[in-house]
Amino acid sequence: MTGTLPSVGCSNTPVLKQRGQREVFCGLTGIIWLHRKMQDAFFLVVGSRTCAHLLQSAAGVMIFAEPRFGTAILEEKDLAGLADAQAELDREVARLLSRRPDIRQLFLVGSCPSEVIKLDLHRAAERMSAAHAPHVRVLNYSGSGIETTFTQGEDACLAAMVPALPATEARELLIVGALPDVVEDQALALLAAMGIGPVRCLPVRRSADLPPVGANTVFALVQPFLGDTHAALTRRGARHIAAPFPFGAEGTTAWLQAIATEFGVAPDLFESVIAAPRARAEKAIAAAAETLSGKSVFFFPDSQLEIPLARFLTRECGMTAVEVGTPFLHRDLMAPELALLAEGPVLSEGQDVDLQLDRVRAARPDLTVCGLGLANPLEAEGLATKWAIELVFSPVHFYEQAGDLAALFARPLRRRALLAPLAPQGPPPRLEAAE
Ligand code: SF4
Repeated sequence: MTGTLPSVGCSNTPVLKQRGQREVFCGLTGIIWLHRKMQDAFFLVVGSRTCAHLLQSAAGVMIFAEPRFGTAILEEKDLAGLADAQAELDREVARLLSRRPDIRQLFLVGSCPSEVIKLDLHRAAERMSAAHAPHVRVLNYSGSGIETTFTQGEDACLAAMVPALPATEARELLIVGALPDVVEDQALALLAAMGIGPVRCLPVRRSADLPPVGANTVFALVQPFLGDTHAALTRRGARHIAAPFPFGAEGTTAWLQAIATEFGVAPDLFESVIAAPRARAEKAIAAAAETLSGKSVFFFPDSQLEIPLARFLTRECGMTAVEVGTPFLHRDLMAPELALLAEGPVLSEGQDVDLQLDRVRAARPDLTVCGLGLANPLEAEGLATKWAIELVFSPVHFYEQAGDLAALFARPLRRRALLAPLAPQGPPPRLEAAE
């Protein structure tokens, strides 16, 4: 008997698991985009001066607005257990909240130092919630860099919010993952045009609009790194709508289609809503794909966006993936993506950075997607690189941003092509240790 088997892509590809030195930012990084999204929230990192420096240099210092993040610095006496850090934290928070009545949600964010001294921020958050209710709700999560990667900060933050969400029996759609407001509005407009509603979002801009959740809630993730939030919502009885992630024209269509199917949207209506924005996206992608087509790409594990982005670049931009590294492979969330990603690339999970650098040097891909710490050395070795963190900071979801997403990858290739005639001939210089 003959027949056509459904495409399984990389679903059954063996995964190269690596455990060694890693080069990633920590979860505190998520505060940079979360504080912009949640406009009445404050993120108080309980950490060291290093944590404060990371936040200030990454997020910049706001001159005209009161900041919505800060660091309660653990001094040596706290770390040595010579001071009652809980009492000091209570005083700091009381001072902050009395000065800032605009704060309605306060996140105590754990760090490597607070984890090492086992400062119980969950207990602190419960105590402070009781003291400052109902005006302020205090929650806690960890942004520590111990065994985590930078997008896990958002996952931990959203997962911490889920148990505190109100209950509902209503059938509602919940869109999960922080999006820039303009991108979120585009997605909501598409869903509204299909007659899908009520639609809620997590996180929300104002805490008064926190979405309720219950057994009749269905939710769709817009970010692939929300494994803990997925688990927390499932524990509240909500059901996940499995789909590829809304990157590129194809990913966006598949994501919307999964929701439309769940809500019984008629195919004609679905097609009429998406036809124009999908055509715009395809046209914009095609412009950037002129640079990307036929080129190879290598992903270091950073953002957990690697598999969906490899799917986008290979299927819509004509690239070839050499290796697709991801910090963690969440099989359930990634199943629709892996089925679409054509066999061929090495799939790797975790990192042993020296071994991975050996592999990228051997492969010499046209484009390497990696963290900031690796990008400059690799550029010096003649490899074009793209900073993974830029993909999280930039609006890249849904149809209207699909061209920008492709252009983010095309830019380093164009730059390298322009600089190539100026580059010195011969092998790149090697740095020698001084005698
Ligand atoms: S949480 Fe850890 S990794 Fe992040 S800045 Fe603080 S000390 Fe460094």
